[in-house]
Order: sequence, then C-alpha cells, then structure tokens
Amino acid sequence: MAQRFRDLIQTSFFLRLLVLAVFIILLIVAAQGSKPSKLALGEYSIPILGYHGLGDQSATAYYIYPENFTKQMQWLKDNGYHVISMDKLFDGLNGKTKLPFKPVVITFDDGNITNYTIAYPILKKFHYPATFFVISGVTGSDPDRMNWEQVKEMAKHGMTIGSHTVNHDNLAKMKLGPARAEIIDSKKAIEDKLGVEVKYFSYPNGGYKNRDMEVKDAGYVAAFTTHRSITQKIISPDSLYALSRYEVLGDLPIPFEEIFQQKLDLSN
Ligand SMILES: [Zn+2]
Repeated sequence: MAQRFRDLIQTSFFLRLLVLAVFIILLIVAAQGSKPSKLALGEYSIPILGYHGLGDQSATAYYIYPENFTKQMQWLKDNGYHVISMDKLFDGLNGKTKLPFKPVVITFDDGNITNYTIAYPILKKFHYPATFFVISGVTGSDPDRMNWEQVKEMAKHGMTIGSHTVNHDNLAKMKLGPARAEIIDSKKAIEDKLGVEVKYFSYPNGGYKNRDMEVKDAGYVAAFTTHRSITQKIISPDSLYALSRYEVLGDLPIPFEEIFQQKLDLSN
C-alpha cells in the first residue's frame, strides 16, 4: 500500500515537472515572438536611392532614361548588392533580423505614371522590391501619375507604398496645423484605398525641419529627406524621421557606381 502510494506521488511529481517544463518552453517561445525591438544606434553606410520618373532625361533632370535605370539595376546585381524592402531594412535596424551584406533600398517619389509603366516591370524582372511615395491628393486624378488600381497592384506584388503628403507642399514652410493635416490625411487616404498600413513618409522638397516629430506622432515608422548621402546617422530613435537618400537624377554629378563609395555628405 505504502509502495503504491509512493509510486503515485512520484508519478504525479513527474507529471507536474513535465507540465512545468512545457509551460516554461511556451513562455520562452512567446517571449521570443514579442521580442522588443532594439534600435541599433550608430552610423551606417546604407544607400537609399531616390528616383522620380523614367523617360527622356534631356527634358527634365527628374527623369532618367529607362535603359540607364536598367543598367543601374544590373550593376547592383553584378556587384553583390542586396536590394531589400523597407520593412526588411527596419527589421534589421531594429535588431529583429540580420541585414544582408551590402544592402540597398530603392525609392520613388511623386507617383509618376512611369513608376508603374516602366520602373515596375524592370524591378519585377530583377525581383527587386521598392518603395513608392505617392501624393494622395493627385493619385487617380492626374493622368501623369499612377491611379489607385496601379498602386494597389504594385502593393499586392511586394512593393511598399508610402506617403508623400496630400498636395506636395513643403511642410517646413507651412503652418503647423495644415502641415499636420498633410501628414495625417495622406496616411489615412492611402490606407483606406489599399487596406494596408502606411508606415513610411517622404518629405516634399526635403522640407522636414520642425516637422519630423509630427511625422513620428502620426504613427509612421520612418521618414526620408532629400539630404544627399548614403550615410545614415542614427543617434536616437528620432533619427529615423530624417533619413538620408541619394537622389538619382538625370544630371547625377558622379557616375552611378561612385555613389556607393561616398562616405561624406555632399550637401546639407
Ligand atoms: Zn516630390
């Protein structure tokens, strides 16, 4: 009788131990899943390229010839660069995943129609993700720009859609109230149309002074200036609201490949 009693106690002890072990394992798994992000502070060489339209670059410096764009994409491939999405970049910077060797991010501002008709097919060919910052107030109403169906199609196929305000005014030169509306209303408009969260913002004409914290308060993850540099100085979480971009324009002052050797800022 006593032996059976002891066996029973022992069995229930091991059962309890087992339940406890399973519980601890589940706790560890849950904790890993909700690992708080840890922003890696420092100075990084991460080229974030800024394009506008593709087409006749002799007509406007904001266009570059499609064949030049294709050559640039090929150069990135041939030279071991990894074109990553915006989400992947911030997962890397926040310590959630490891960034690949030689990361590059591609962005387009203004939602020009050639983003969809010319750039998108080329990007697809290379399997490169890119981020398109659209102006919500003219999307679908200006024939020179993409419509919502086109934007939606790109979003569905791995492209990221960000906000470039409602009306493309320089926020640094506007009063706070209207500037705030441009930041908040564009986010909501794009989200309503696409059904996905809009996490990234691009300042029209690079006007970010005294407006970066408004962008943060509106719930964006990061925002981009036209400060021409491939160096990202992240001294605090607020630095994510004024990240540099190297604008690739038709009148690029240096050969494309030299962008990636730049260490110093070219402009302010
Ligand atoms: Zn713009």
